Amino acid sequence: MKPQEIMLNTHIKENTLDRFSEEEIGDDHFYTGLETPMKLDAFEISDSEKKEKISGLFAQIMDVMGLDLTDDSLKGTPNRVAKMYIDEIFSGLNPLNKPKIALFDNKYKYNQMLVEKNITFYSNCEHHFVPIIGIAHIAYVSSGKVIGISKLNRIVQYYAKRPQVQERLTNQIAIELKTILDTEDIAIIIDAKHLCVSSRGVKDDTSATVTSYYSGVFNEPHKIVELQNYLNQ
Ligand SMILES: [Zn+2]
Repeated sequence: MKPQEIMLNTHIKENTLDRFSEEEIGDDHFYTGLETPMKLDAFEISDSEKKEKISGLFAQIMDVMGLDLTDDSLKGTPNRVAKMYIDEIFSGLNPLNKPKIALFDNKYKYNQMLVEKNITFYSNCEHHFVPIIGIAHIAYVSSGKVIGISKLNRIVQYYAKRPQVQERLTNQIAIELKTILDTEDIAIIIDAKHLCVSSRGVKDDTSATVTSYYSGVFNEPHKIVELQNYLNQ
C-alpha cells in the first residue's frame, strides 16, 4: 500500500477507501472524483418536501443532543437550517439553480488573458459540514467568445454551494468554463481556509489550502508568470 501522503489528492478507486476508517477518511479529505456524488433519485422529491424532511430530522438531532425545542430561541432552528441548506448554502446541488450563461462575440478582438481575481466564496466541507472560506482567481483567453464578467463569479458561487472538497470545486469550475467558453486556455487558483482544520481537529488557524488548474496556454511558464504578476498587483 502506498503511504497516505502519496494517495492524498489523487484519483483513487472507491474500494481503496475500505482500508481506512471514516475518521481517517474525513480528516484526510479524500477526493474521489469530478462529479459530486449524488443518488440517482436525488431530485424525485421537491425542494419543499426536502425542507420539510430536513427540518424534522434536524429537530431530532437537536433533541438527541438534549436541546429543548420548546425554547423560543431554538424552536425555529430546524426550519431555518432546512431552508438555509436547500435555498442557500447547498443550492448548487440542484442543476435548476445553475446560472444561465450568455456568450458574446469577442468584438474588441481582445486576445490576451482576462483575469477575474479575488472572487470571494463560501462553501462547506463535505466531510464535516463546516465552512470553507476562500478566494478564487480565474483567467482565460477567448477563443472567439466572451462571457459576462459577473458570470465567472456566479459559476464559482454555484459550485461552492455544495458540500465540497477543494480539489473537486477547482476542477468543476475549470471544466464548466472550458465547456462554456469552448477553450482549453483556462487557469483557476483557489486559496481557502477550512474551518474543519482551524476550528476543530488539529486547530490550525494559520494554514490555508491552495489548489490550481492550468490548461492550454496556461501550461506555458511565461503565461503562469504573467498571471502571477496580475495576481500580485
Ligand atoms: Zn473537513
